[in-house]
Amino acid sequence: MRIILIGPPGAGKGTQCQRLVDLLKVPHLSTGEMLRAEVKARTPDGIVAASYMEQGQLVPDPIIVGMVSRRLQSPDCRHGCLLDGFPRTLPQAETLDDLLERRAMSVDGVIELAVPRDELVRRMLARGREDDDPEVFEKRIASFEVQTAPLLDYYARQGRLASIDGLGTSDQIFDRVKAAVRRFEQATRAR
Ligand code: ADP
Repeated sequence: MRIILIGPPGAGKGTQCQRLVDLLKVPHLSTGEMLRAEVKARTPDGIVAASYMEQGQLVPDPIIVGMVSRRLQSPDCRHGCLLDGFPRTLPQAETLDDLLERRAMSVDGVIELAVPRDELVRRMLARGREDDDPEVFEKRIASFEVQTAPLLDYYARQGRLASIDGLGTSDQIFDRVKAAVRRFEQATRAR
């Protein structure tokens, strides 16, 4: 299964991704984590990326696309993967479709973890993580609303979107995630 998990910052994507990769036994491709590793290793890409990330801005596509496409080619991704943090824009989604199509692959399904904005802000203030500067956090939410939300339409039109309620306990939300995966399995078999 090749699945994308989409959600605004603070939606609890990290927890659900972890549980989902354990269930599906596929690699977890998190562009946020990949970028943080590049930054830490001070690679040329990492140095450029850091200046964007510090400001809550998106890292330029050539860096992201290069990173993801290299990762998608590794043998462990042949039978599937969970994409987390990518695609984040419409051009990235189109590029991903092209990349996969060239390898006779496709996205099986996209899960949207829906959480209202005021709840996201409340959670961010409650956890008080040091990278949670309120101003930067607001920018990340705004970037999600402007740049990432249009992806939901893109995948809905392809009949691949499952929007699930991101409010509740981790177990309740994971039950909804599993139900979405079962629907993707049926849809993939029917295609
Ligand atoms: P978030 O907490 O917003 O989900 P991530 O850990 O996914 O953050 O990513 C951290 C930062 O890395 C983002 O704010 C952005 O600057 C950059 N980034 C991650 N994925 C992408 C992407 N697909 N396109 C552009 N920038 C990205």
